[in-house]
Amino acid sequence: MPLGLLKYGLSSEYPLEVDFPPPKALKSSYDVVIIGGGGHGLATAYYLSKYHGITNIAVLDKSYLGGGNTARNTAVIRSNYLTSEGVKFYSESVKLFKNLSNEFDFNIMYSERGQLTLAHTDSTVRAFRQRAEVNKHFGGRTEMLDRQQIKELVPCLNLDPAHLPVLAGLWHIDGATARHDAVAWGYAKEAVKRGVEIHQLTEVQDFVLDGNKIKAIKTNRGTIQCGCAVQAIAGASSILMNKLAIRAPIHTFPLQAMVSQPFKPFLTPLVSSSALHCYVQQTSRGEIVFGGGSDPYPLYNTRSTLDLKESLLAHAIEMFPFMANVKLMRQWAGITDMTPDYSPIMGKSQYDNYYLDAGWGTWGFKATPICGQTMAELVATGKTPKLIAPFALERFSKFQQVNEMGATAASH
Ligand SMILES: Cc1cc2nc3c(=O)[nH]c(=O)nc-3n(C[C@H](O)[C@H](O)[C@H](O)COP(=O)(O)OP(=O)(O)OC[C@H]3O[C@@H](n4cnc5c(N)ncnc54)[C@H](O)[C@@H]3O)c2cc1C
Repeated sequence: MPLGLLKYGLSSEYPLEVDFPPPKALKSSYDVVIIGGGGHGLATAYYLSKYHGITNIAVLDKSYLGGGNTARNTAVIRSNYLTSEGVKFYSESVKLFKNLSNEFDFNIMYSERGQLTLAHTDSTVRAFRQRAEVNKHFGGRTEMLDRQQIKELVPCLNLDPAHLPVLAGLWHIDGATARHDAVAWGYAKEAVKRGVEIHQLTEVQDFVLDGNKIKAIKTNRGTIQCGCAVQAIAGASSILMNKLAIRAPIHTFPLQAMVSQPFKPFLTPLVSSSALHCYVQQTSRGEIVFGGGSDPYPLYNTRSTLDLKESLLAHAIEMFPFMANVKLMRQWAGITDMTPDYSPIMGKSQYDNYYLDAGWGTWGFKATPICGQTMAELVATGKTPKLIAPFALERFSKFQQVNEMGATAASH
């Protein structure tokens, strides 16, 4: 248990200390400018300052810290992907997540509860067998379950939904959740402690180029010089890439989720079905979180829609019929950048000093620690770490996609 949590629990004073001192004025120049104060940008700043001794860093966010997709996601953490590149990458992230509370001395509420993905067709059963084997090969804990084993694991699950009966399940023991805001705050707190500046309400609007380099960054608070810059702005990636004429096959869609009234604990594992396009999990507060796939049309908007609510909940009720009377409390959306192979884009751009952390679609929360760590290594050394080399932007022009479509689906 983090020592900070114990101190907090036993203290009569609140709060113990201020995590973020009031923001300073923007300086005229930084060694590294990180655009985007979500989990990824903050993690990159933290690992740069912790492992590479680079602290003259500004993290700029047009809104508030962690208020983008980081604060809107449903916090699924897992590594049961399909490709060897994906499994290796996400497995490292899961390992880092397990120790984050201790590293921050701050409780991110990491909770390992396992993820069950349902197979309703023979072809899905075959694909799941492949995923289970690839996972085991790289040290992940994933296995196939039959109907009887699923019944024992989740007794309240309907194994014969009207659409298609459940044939088998992919049981990923490493499946987990963590409190998303706490992950952002933890990284921010530790980065600020080491000298990193976080500037909220600071929007990057354009760039000043000097040949093949970014010389300065234009913001709504003035222009700042930079040694190099990292773009980590999730659903807004194409907007800044367009300003720099960086071409990427990204299409942007809203992604919605919703949460119910709280109940006593009844569901430990995360349960998802790609055929029903739905996943269901119970939070530590007892609420049921419902999520599914992105909206079916590209849009830059975080509105919630009735049609998504109706279709998502109809499928959730097929899985758990007793939920028909559950009351919803909230519905929300984020904006996600989808790539054709459902894998992220990480690495160098065509500019010598501009790095990309983009294309995180519906699956980027779980990658926060490892993405931050590898992006920091890239920025500090100029060399692309092996783990992220397969996710370079050039893969699309070289036809070297890392196809994770089947393993992403509605499970995030
Ligand atoms: C409903 C929903 C459910 C999801 N569920 C999961 C899940 O269960 N598991 C999972 O792994 N992933 C999930 N995701 C995906 C995940 O949330 C994202 O991939 C991840 O949070 C991306 O983190 P980030 O730090 O890159 O981006 P963000 O957290 O979006 O941060 C980007 C920041 O950039 C800022 N910004 C944008 N433009 C500018 C600019 N011009 N100048 C300055 N700042 C700018 C924004 O204000 C924002 O704060 C989900 C997403 C949504 C929407």
